[in-house]
Amino acid sequence: SLDPVSSKILIIGCGTWGSSTALHLARRGYKHIIVLDPYEVPSPISAGNDINKIARGRSRHTGPFSGTEDDAVWVSEEVRIKATEGWMKDPVFRDYYHETGYVIAATKPENVRELEETERPTPERGFVELSDAEAFRKTMPEGVLTGDFPGWKGWYKATGAGWVHARKALTAAAKEAERLGAKLICGSPHGKVTELLLDSDSGDIIGAKTGDGRTHLADRTILCAGSNAPQLLDMKDQLRPTAWTLAHLKMTPEEAKLYKNLPVLFNVERGFFMEPDEDNQELKICDEHPGYCNWVTDPETNQRSSVPFARHQIPRISEKGVREFLQETMPHLADRPFAFARICWCADTPDRAFLISPHPEHPSLTLGVGGSGHGFMQIPVIGQYIVDCMEGKLDERMTRSWRWRPETAVDRDWTDTQGRFGGSGVVMDFQDVKDGEWTRVATPRL
Ligand code: FAD
Repeated sequence: SLDPVSSKILIIGCGTWGSSTALHLARRGYKHIIVLDPYEVPSPISAGNDINKIARGRSRHTGPFSGTEDDAVWVSEEVRIKATEGWMKDPVFRDYYHETGYVIAATKPENVRELEETERPTPERGFVELSDAEAFRKTMPEGVLTGDFPGWKGWYKATGAGWVHARKALTAAAKEAERLGAKLICGSPHGKVTELLLDSDSGDIIGAKTGDGRTHLADRTILCAGSNAPQLLDMKDQLRPTAWTLAHLKMTPEEAKLYKNLPVLFNVERGFFMEPDEDNQELKICDEHPGYCNWVTDPETNQRSSVPFARHQIPRISEKGVREFLQETMPHLADRPFAFARICWCADTPDRAFLISPHPEHPSLTLGVGGSGHGFMQIPVIGQYIVDCMEGKLDERMTRSWRWRPETAVDRDWTDTQGRFGGSGVVMDFQDVKDGEWTRVATPRL
């Protein structure tokens, strides 16, 4: 049994979910918490190391749910309510939440219809329909949206959604966990987990080994390594490491002022942006597409897997997507050079529900993975659920929705777009992008 005062807990990964887990363990009085990460916080390869992320309504899932549809609806609503409460009230997070509202849109009629089903954008729920370019332009101060919005249909909602400063929230969670006594071992090789340690008698996981050869023994091990988790544990095809692309444009001080407090603008086929960050005055744009894998075959086992790598450039075709999005929304910025670009890795489960579960064969191992492209906005509370799971008291509907479910990944269709739109409409492979087909952003930085 677990005693917070004496039990040793090891967290692998101090990214979005690992830092939240460390924080909530420390708040529950755990005294021996060690968090390992190959990078100092905020890790440059964490999906959460970003100037902003969207925080909005119901999370989107696709495919057969691991629990029932009722479970899924309840779980996503419950997590949204609790996370929003966290953003508004928790002193660690509240400075980083900006409830600026949002514009959600699509272009193809079938996608507009799908948005109608998933968002339920009725006036009673606070949505205003946007059916022409003028209506879109009016959602922001004059001079921001100057485009023609060709074929766009959408809705504006003033409250209940907005954006969060991701990197600052993640860093604040890790710092608070540290202040409460968690020990962060960050950097390489000493923070980089190279393998999980298996007890040969019981078959249980008893800790992890790091790149410096040290072993870290623990009563419970929590795997929060994001898209890198499949490199440490056989995930039975339940995670597909997939990357998306983002670029920043430098704004002038005048533009940054004009662009302050904007609603998020998200076209599910084209891309999205939020207001520029206040520190560097850079506007982040993400183009939409079903994502990139990086398919590599291991010559020894002949196993094919998508292996994440870091790169502070994006494929030219994504640059084209970003510029087309700008052309439709803010043509005055469409030719501005990028100040920064990077690929960003997440890991999708087949149904895009999270995977928060004990491991069936290793009872001391808890999994906190499977962000599936929508796992940042829950940072104020996700660690609570992961700790509940470790303590064996996770809500039963969450337990069903987020369980270990290899049966959903048998003969997995790796090309499944999983409800994502845009770009070429297919999941791409970085192996097909030649060296000359990447951007050359002048000063990439970590
Ligand atoms: P990460 O935050 O990636 O953390 C994994 C950690 O593991 C990292 O710190 C890494 O350094 C560490 N690690 C790796 N290997 C090892 C090892 N061997 N040993 C120890 N540690 C290791 N979500 C939203 O809610 N809203 C959004 O608007 C949104 N936009 C997104 C845009 C993009 C482009 C992407 C890619 C994702 C977006 N997401 C969004 C999803 C969200 O970012 C992820 O779901 C979430 O950050 C995943 O958190 P994580 O802790 O699982 O992974």
